[in-house]
Amino acid sequence: MTSIQSHRKPKAHSKARGLKRGSRRPAKELCSDCGLCDTYYIHYVRKACAFINQQITELETSIHGKSRNLDNENECYFGVHQEMISARKKVPIEGAQWTGIVSTLACEMLERGLVEGVVCVQNTKEDRFDPMPVIARTSEEVLAARVNKPTLSPNLSILEQIEKSNLKRLLVIGVGCQIQALRAVEKELGLEKLYVLGTPCVDNVSREGLQKFLETTSRSPDTVVHYEFMQDFRVHFKHEDGSVEKVPFFGLKTNKLKDVFAPSCMSCFDYVNSLADLVVGYMGAEFGWQWIMVRNETGKEMLGLIEDQINTKPVISHGNRKQAVQQSIPAYDQGVTLPMWAAKLMGVVIERVGPKGLEYARFSIDSHFTRNYLYLKRNHPKKLENHVPNYAKKIVSQYQLPDQ
Ligand code: FAD
Ligand code: SF4
Repeated sequence: MTSIQSHRKPKAHSKARGLKRGSRRPAKELCSDCGLCDTYYIHYVRKACAFINQQITELETSIHGKSRNLDNENECYFGVHQEMISARKKVPIEGAQWTGIVSTLACEMLERGLVEGVVCVQNTKEDRFDPMPVIARTSEEVLAARVNKPTLSPNLSILEQIEKSNLKRLLVIGVGCQIQALRAVEKELGLEKLYVLGTPCVDNVSREGLQKFLETTSRSPDTVVHYEFMQDFRVHFKHEDGSVEKVPFFGLKTNKLKDVFAPSCMSCFDYVNSLADLVVGYMGAEFGWQWIMVRNETGKEMLGLIEDQINTKPVISHGNRKQAVQQSIPAYDQGVTLPMWAAKLMGVVIERVGPKGLEYARFSIDSHFTRNYLYLKRNHPKKLENHVPNYAKKIVSQYQLPDQ
């Protein structure tokens, strides 16, 4: 058995060794701990790392057969897609982040034998937010990974196990930076078929950063089970006892939170997981619904597997985000925090008249891309030209930035 395994190890990376956990990575402070460098696939890091070699356009072309058309607003913002819909499970999964579409699809693919394993993230026994990437082989193991771990997760640290376990058909669930590196080494993995189920991702944190965020923002940091930045412009914290605490975005203590988000996430322009086959998020849908983007034929095949388990409806788009985004730029930059009464009032007003559906998603993308562009310009100016994709440059150019 051992000799067969070593025989299967492809030559190109056979001499490389993964780095020890905690050691400095090739992308230095911009490393998102995607896990690639924990494995012998570190051999490809200069080509594969999302923070060393941003190559979304090239990879879009090789994976989806075309890169996004910047003259089409939906493609410019949300990437290559065949279809966008709102959806929710008819019977939601208890304890999932939203209604559990991601976990349901992964279970279905395993049970139908379409894949032999699912890369997903459980948590350690000691800490519900400490990520523990696994290759799940059963629905129970997939379900144990439900709900977001809002922390940087080394999902690709399982890459060596794929070869060792002789897996041929695999589903990987992951966020943009993990998927970009995965796509770059996909051909080296010796798989017959790789399915990629992505979620959008933004403002991720280290475990210590998460603690600071919870302590600064929630009334009861130790009982938070999960949280989400919602379409009603509030952060919803769900607590162990089932209660939901709502804190308006505009009341966040931005002066204290400025350095909480990981530098990788402050430099990321792949919010919508451009290289996944199918993306499941929420921000392009109305409150209570999830947002699904089918990027290619593989994604269409995947969504087809759960069609009878979900209700769907068309996506909507209302309102105009531009003024709110423009006002948020200097407010974030100068760390302005409103008194709570004013933040609540602003939250109520903006919820009534503010952007909805796809326009809300554009609001969130614009706010984060302008913030990240400024961060990169100030902290890593030499990376600005190559690291910021053209679609992000186009989005940012709609706004007046403080340094201009
Ligand atoms: P579930 O069935 O609960 O499954 C969740 C899946 O996420 C699990 O399979 C697990 O393996 C995986 N997962 C959990 N934590 C991580 C992690 N750290 N890295 C990689 N994979 C993980 N959607 C938006 O529309 N806008 C956002 O701004 C947004 N921000 C997000 C930020 C983070 C850090 C994450 C992880 C997700 C974010 N999402 C965002 C996606 C959204 O919150 C839900 O995850 C998605 O809608 C799926 O919900 P679900 O109920 O179907 O998932
Ligand atoms: Fe390595 Fe991933 Fe960190 Fe890049 S982001 S340095 S590929 S672990």
